[in-house]
Amino acid sequence: QKALLEQLKGKENVTKSGQKINVYANIGNVSDVGAVLKNDAGGIGLFRSEFLYLENDTFPTEEQQFAVYKQVAENMAGKKVIIRTLDIGADKQVDYFGLDKEDNPALGYRAIRICLTRTEIFKTQLRALYRAAMFGNISIMFPMIISVGEIHKIKAIIAEVKAELKAEGIPYREDVELGVMIETPASVMISRELAKEVDYFSVGTNDLTQYTLAIDRQNSKLDEFYDPHHPAVLAMIKMAADNAHAEGKWIGICGELGADLELTEEFLKMGLDELSVSPSMVLPLRKRIRECE
Ligand code: PEP
Ligand code: MG
Repeated sequence: QKALLEQLKGKENVTKSGQKINVYANIGNVSDVGAVLKNDAGGIGLFRSEFLYLENDTFPTEEQQFAVYKQVAENMAGKKVIIRTLDIGADKQVDYFGLDKEDNPALGYRAIRICLTRTEIFKTQLRALYRAAMFGNISIMFPMIISVGEIHKIKAIIAEVKAELKAEGIPYREDVELGVMIETPASVMISRELAKEVDYFSVGTNDLTQYTLAIDRQNSKLDEFYDPHHPAVLAMIKMAADNAHAEGKWIGICGELGADLELTEEFLKMGLDELSVSPSMVLPLRKRIRECE
């Protein structure tokens, strides 16, 4: 089995009838890049930048972040590296953020909601990202989006960040691709409008399932009810895909469901452009794609 998978390195992710799809990998730390390359992933579809914040006992500096993003971009040597901005809160708590205890953390102050209100934290990360983008194929992705207004706010902050870097004479890349996570039902329902604003979508099926089924993803007592194959979840993914394509944008999946080999054929039928999975699933997924008609 292992030897068989080894033989798939360097091969295309293509079905028997010639449909192609990108297979990227998810990482949570710089040290995972080795596994991404070893398993021959086409890029990084989700770099969870939270580790930078979780590992530290205070806010990571711009220089610390810049060094990490630059290193990942350089190691990936021109392959796409999608870095997701801070997704702290809910299941990912950090003491020094001083966040209030909430009754419903999954529905609370988290991710882009923190970034858009504590903009100094967001701007530090964006500065590091725009600077690091000089050294490879970095693209930026925003979590937990629910409205077009949020995208406008993000773009206004990006414009400020660029103006400041320019005024300081610090080199940065002007045209970084921007994408959003589709992980709330709201983002699915307005996906046609969102697609006009961004370069791509990536479906976060872990949260999308949680919010669509109204089932806490962390509560193992509910496992028998948590059904990621639920037709409502699949219909959401299809709707987002159709709307992305209607606006000429690409769409992938970076949640766990992307690695579910029982659904690979369905995802190909929906015309998904990319699946991003843990590094160890890249070759098994390639094998499955190559078996599909
Ligand atoms: C998701 O929600 O599916 C996702 C990819 O993000 P995370 O698991 O980090 O919330
Ligand atoms: Mg998520």
